Amino acid sequence: MGSLIHRRSLGSLCANMLGDCWSKGYSTEHPLVIYSFGFITHGILDRHFHPFINYFSGWYDHSKPHTKAFRYNHSFYERILDVLLYKEFLNQKWMTDLVLTPPGSRAQNFAEYFTIAPHDRDVLVPFLTQSIFKTYEKTQTDTKMSQRITHALADSSGFYQYCDKAVSKRVDQIIENTPAPIQNLKWTGLLHPTFLPSDMDFLNTSHQTWQDPCGFGEWIQSSVLDLWNQALRESCSIIAWITTQWNTKNTDWLGGVSQIIGNSDLRNTRPSDKLCTLEYCEPKDLFQVLKVLDEGTIPPDWVRIFP
Ligand SMILES: [Zn+2]
Repeated sequence: MGSLIHRRSLGSLCANMLGDCWSKGYSTEHPLVIYSFGFITHGILDRHFHPFINYFSGWYDHSKPHTKAFRYNHSFYERILDVLLYKEFLNQKWMTDLVLTPPGSRAQNFAEYFTIAPHDRDVLVPFLTQSIFKTYEKTQTDTKMSQRITHALADSSGFYQYCDKAVSKRVDQIIENTPAPIQNLKWTGLLHPTFLPSDMDFLNTSHQTWQDPCGFGEWIQSSVLDLWNQALRESCSIIAWITTQWNTKNTDWLGGVSQIIGNSDLRNTRPSDKLCTLEYCEPKDLFQVLKVLDEGTIPPDWVRIFP
């Protein structure tokens, strides 16, 4: 389901989720409405970040053997952005309010805050199932949809718990100078890095020119922070618009929700309904970075992200 939602109809799905809440008379502060806002901000951030991430991390094309080195880059680059953006926003109130310990630190506690209580899960699962059925009609024949969503929620929190433990263990090894090779680049690439090379401009603060990988011929100089701000502005204006529409009496505005979010894929910022085919990239040498983190002996010129 996750990849289908990333491919198409996010706008309609969000409209159906919000429509369900609205018709039941919930306020915009109801947990399911706030959850739906999270779906929107996730999608908008994906649309702004994915072109950048795809361009600088590349992808594995089975017909081109040399691209095999890129196969873990996408998720690894996302983990790198997690730690660097966390650092960037460390002193802002919304970040300190989260009471998270930094990703990549010894006491990483992401799982603790992003888990779901059984009662909330019992509300969320039918809500998601109904909205998915309404949006992607072909899925209605799937009798195991609720079960699938329940498992996906459990899988995610299990995964976060496992990652938190693995990161703390890695940090301990580094502090005690007893690093053992992990010997699994895929797994290493899913962990938040504690150290990174100082000479790789992961956030593109130098505004190097890059291109939309979907082949729209557009050259861009944006840094990650520029993209973050664009996504933030867009998300705020969409959510503000929804809250102003909430007290109207007829359902017409729900069509507007679908339109302003858009039903295009989450690979690019273009509103077109055409699926993006990835074409252009200039990957950074993330494979080498991954190998060092996997081995565990950190070169002296690398920087520690969190103390
Ligand atoms: Zn996503």
